Amino acid sequence: MQDIKSLTLEELINEMKRLGERPFRAKQMYQWMHTRLARSFGDMTDLSLSFREKCAEEYTFTALKLVKTQESALDGTRKYLFELSDGKRIESVWMKYRHGNSVCISSQAGCRMGCAFCASTIGGLERSLTPSEMLDQVYAITLLTGERVSNVVVMGMGEPLDNYDNLLRFITLLTDENGLHISQRNITVSTCGLAPEIRRLADEKLQITLALSLHAPEDAKRKKLMPVANKYSISEVMEACAWYFGQTKRRITFEYSLIKDVNDSKEDAKMLAGLAKKQNCHVNLIPVNPVNERSFVQSDTKTLTAFKKILEDCGVNVTVRREMGRDIDGACGQLRRRYSEE
Ligand code: SAH
Repeated sequence: MQDIKSLTLEELINEMKRLGERPFRAKQMYQWMHTRLARSFGDMTDLSLSFREKCAEEYTFTALKLVKTQESALDGTRKYLFELSDGKRIESVWMKYRHGNSVCISSQAGCRMGCAFCASTIGGLERSLTPSEMLDQVYAITLLTGERVSNVVVMGMGEPLDNYDNLLRFITLLTDENGLHISQRNITVSTCGLAPEIRRLADEKLQITLALSLHAPEDAKRKKLMPVANKYSISEVMEACAWYFGQTKRRITFEYSLIKDVNDSKEDAKMLAGLAKKQNCHVNLIPVNPVNERSFVQSDTKTLTAFKKILEDCGVNVTVRREMGRDIDGACGQLRRRYSEE
């Protein structure tokens, strides 16, 4: 059965023709799914029962089940644990900023990239999410909070570029003027550095922001933290990032999680500055979020400040990420992990 919420309006129009329905049915159905955020065919009360029954026979309709919510007492950040129709679990995060509400979504249940500091990868990859399951996270949170989502970051569980086609379709649907119509400029996709897919994404010439999880300034160190570095060297990834900027004119974000005595030396800062200087980029320093199963520790404030200053003195654009939801297992995969342990 086809997954109806993953179809574009054009595809849905063709489907309605196939079913012998009039084309305006497609528009109605699309609106119910993507602006009125129906959670089932049953919600679509102004469509005839026989039409809804026909659709239910022909198509699957995804909906997330809320398993658990955690709200940060520090900053109001909320973390949601959702269950998919096959029982797999994913996490999404809602963050309130002055400039609007952001949702951080998962692109896969689990992850196969194996980063040493990350909780999402501990059980490996369960499966990739469908476009509708990515949309559902934004839709469910819009319904739960009653507030409009203005920014979407694909920085939850999973490697989005390891689920390339579904990610692209998700972006198409999310930015569609007949749907929530979120601007491409308000979407960020974070990758561990799959160089060929970065180039492919560049060639789509979208206006989304690309974030690269760098975390180490040279290959030997990066390989210890991120197995993907065995496949693509930093120089290959840097060339792909330069290509991305060339094609889109969008400045790249380099994410760098500071881990005490692992990647936070002055030498590391200088090497990172060397890489960053050659790109149109912005460096985001993130104090590593300690994960139970891992022994990594956050760099202290003095080290963080010194690290940042070296970058600044080299003329690199750098910020320190405000930690959100630190009291609620803010880092990727932590809530799911904790919940399955309980
Ligand atoms: N797979 C993608 C997106 C998901 S992770 C990627 O690698 O970019 C989103 C970001 O959180 C990445 O930069 C990732 O490296 C980082 N991250 C994961 N676990 C973390 C932790 N415990 N502390 C700090 N950052 C972490």
